[in-house]
Amino acid sequence: PPQPVTVTVTGAGGQIGYSLLFRIASGQLLGRDVPVRLRLLEIPAGRRAAEGTALELQDGAFPLLHGIDVTEDATAAFDGVDIALLVGARPRGPGMERADLLEANGAIFGPQGAAINAGAADDVRVLVVGNPANTNALIASAAAPDVPPERFTAMTRLDHNRAVAQLAAHLHVPVRSVDGVIVWGNHSASQYPDLSHATVDGRPATELVDERWLADEYIPRVAKRGAEIIEVRGSSSAASAASAAIDHVHDWVNGTGDRWTSAGVVSDGSYGVPEGLISSFPVRSAPSGAGDGAWQIVQGLTIDAFSRERIDRSVAELVEEREAVRALGLI
Ligand code: NDP
Repeated sequence: PPQPVTVTVTGAGGQIGYSLLFRIASGQLLGRDVPVRLRLLEIPAGRRAAEGTALELQDGAFPLLHGIDVTEDATAAFDGVDIALLVGARPRGPGMERADLLEANGAIFGPQGAAINAGAADDVRVLVVGNPANTNALIASAAAPDVPPERFTAMTRLDHNRAVAQLAAHLHVPVRSVDGVIVWGNHSASQYPDLSHATVDGRPATELVDERWLADEYIPRVAKRGAEIIEVRGSSSAASAASAAIDHVHDWVNGTGDRWTSAGVVSDGSYGVPEGLISSFPVRSAPSGAGDGAWQIVQGLTIDAFSRERIDRSVAELVEEREAVRALGLI
């Protein structure tokens, strides 16, 4: 039987954690035959909530769950970790400047990156969910010089899933009919959900939707969906964020098959995105054991002027964030 895989979740006492952990324990992250060992990392304020979730996980009697530890110590949390889900982050408080936010998150993701560097499995896979996710991933990666940068990723899968679902709803087709959607850039309002390579039951999406709807409704709707959820639900998206984190890691480990998806990965300069930035791209993954364990950026797609402008705008924001964390000495 397969050996248990060690999965560490930070911010495990929070609302995304509450949804995410049950899906991991039930086998949806890695597969129905893969046992998992959970490590829950929290800060003192979140520790009791994480312990409560751990009790409930025990009550789930999940056959695949081979143990749960709750800790406040990053070194212990990441020792031998195979999959790290970095969910806990410092939210922007009232009157907080961007530099304060980046600095507060640097104090979280720097030490976590260092602990991953010191103790993680050689083939560790890291997904950063906590915002600002792309730049937090960059900070963690910079603190882990012995871990290849390809192992640090940021979540844009929720944006991707929203982009697929909104197109399917608009055209009254099942989600499965939609293929080839891309989210580019930063996981922020500047992100660019791109339909120029998308197909719907094999037909180009651009033949099925009009340009005005695309520019004035679709793109802003996807980019601002988080705010819509907060307005309607009364708190930020949680189960959908957890679901997207499951999708990201599941596809990374098990392979994307004949479709691509979107993920924040380190740029190799593809599509004019400066090397070293963690930006969202169209990506594929080979099943575990078949490749080198890195996401592959889909190459050779044509980028029209409309897309170029939007990709450049979001990437410019990532460049600014990188400059800001550099100035703060965080990378
Ligand atoms: P959530 O579980 O709701 O969110 C956690 C993080 O995910 C936030 O940074 C949030 O960003 C981000 N996120 C990314 N994408 C999305 C999305 N699409 N929708 C919603 N959120 C998204 O936060 P809680 O406050 O409920 O829980 C956070 C927990 O983290 C707390 O228990 C806290 O104690 C803990 N924490 C742990 C740390 C550690 O382990 N070292 C460090 C810091 C905090 P955004 O804020 O922009 O919504």
